[in-house]
Order: sequence, then structure tokens, then C-alpha cells
Amino acid sequence: MNDKVRVECPACSAEGVSEMYDSMPDNTESVLCCMCEGKGYWDMVPFTGIKSRPGITSVIHGFSMRFEVPPYIVTYEEFLAGKRPMRQPEPEWVRTVGEESKKNC
Ligand SMILES: [Zn+2]
Repeated sequence: MNDKVRVECPACSAEGVSEMYDSMPDNTESVLCCMCEGKGYWDMVPFTGIKSRPGITSVIHGFSMRFEVPPYIVTYEEFLAGKRPMRQPEPEWVRTVGEESKKNC
């Protein structure tokens, strides 16, 4: 088990308050950072390399459910070696349906 390290909250840059809310002119009130709940830090486990998950044989891109052929799918061995599945181009029927629906707006 790795010891955790304390890192600055990337959402608020360790300020503990949200930047968006208090950026309005003349507003001196802010809001608690929802990512660190005002602490300004996260306790994180250092990354030591990708971990293997038992029982997996292949990996697809989340937006490529219909085309489970290379390069949209890679074997799990390839994945662990650093190869990643590509996202498939948007199918023609999706573009067609999108254009049709705009006509009805
Ligand atoms: Zn924060």
C-alpha cells in the first residue's frame, strides 16, 4: 500500500474557495470549493504505473460500441503496453438524423 501525498486542489489552486463565483465585479463573497470542500488540498496515492485488471481480454473506446474491430479495439495486452483504441468517426446516419431534427426546430 502506497502512502498518500498531499497535493494542491487543482480546482481552486489551494485557495479553498471557488474562483468563478467571486470573479463578479464588486462581489466580496465567495463559495466553498466543492472539489476539496475548502481544505485546499487532496490526499492522493502516487501513480506507480498502470495496474492490470483480471479477466479483461480487450478494450474498446467508449464512443465506438458498434465497431469492435481494430483500430477501435485493442487487446488487453496491447493496452497494458500503452496502445489505446481509437474513437470511431461519427456514422453517416447520426449526421443525417441530426440534420433532420434541426429542420423540425
Ligand atoms: Zn479546492
